[in-house]
Amino acid sequence: MILKVVKYGEPVLRKKGARIESITPEIKKLIADMFDTMYAQKGVGLAAQQVGHALQLTVIDVRGATDRPSSLELKGQPAEVESFMPLVLINPELTLTGEKAAGPEGCLSFPEVFAEISRPQFVDVKASNEKGKPIEFRAGGLLGRAIQHEWDHLQGILFIDRMEKKTKEELKPELDAIQSETKAELAAGKK
Ligand code: ZN
Repeated sequence: MILKVVKYGEPVLRKKGARIESITPEIKKLIADMFDTMYAQKGVGLAAQQVGHALQLTVIDVRGATDRPSSLELKGQPAEVESFMPLVLINPELTLTGEKAAGPEGCLSFPEVFAEISRPQFVDVKASNEKGKPIEFRAGGLLGRAIQHEWDHLQGILFIDRMEKKTKEELKPELDAIQSETKAELAAGKK
């Protein structure tokens, strides 16, 4: 089922997600719906906050982005990204490594907004998968960037918080427009 993706200005986007202690049928359904929603919107990642749930849960699939390479290491050995997708991360913990590099990012909660964001090039991830099994890997390239972007969502952090001041100022009209539209929708819904 395709869910509504909430936009900038919606308070849930600023909420830190609660840990998930067990994979209930509700969580399984939410994961399936989040994949449906992410694929429908042609995104490479989606956090639970973006569909209205403040939880430590994100879904990722970089296979659609063929023009931007990703890297993966399992137990220190290079591994194939394709067969590791799609990816569900529950209660993820990240350790960031490597030099920072700038790369383009967008966000389904910020339609039509794109900016260069500087982030460490690699990320070591510890998380549970959709079966509640522990997983551990190192990701780089687009996958590393997507994981960092989604982890931020789980803490209530948005990519505008990572933008250079100048970039954010340039985008202010677009950002303000999304926020006022969201606020107007919320106000109308409360009537
Ligand atoms: Zn996002």
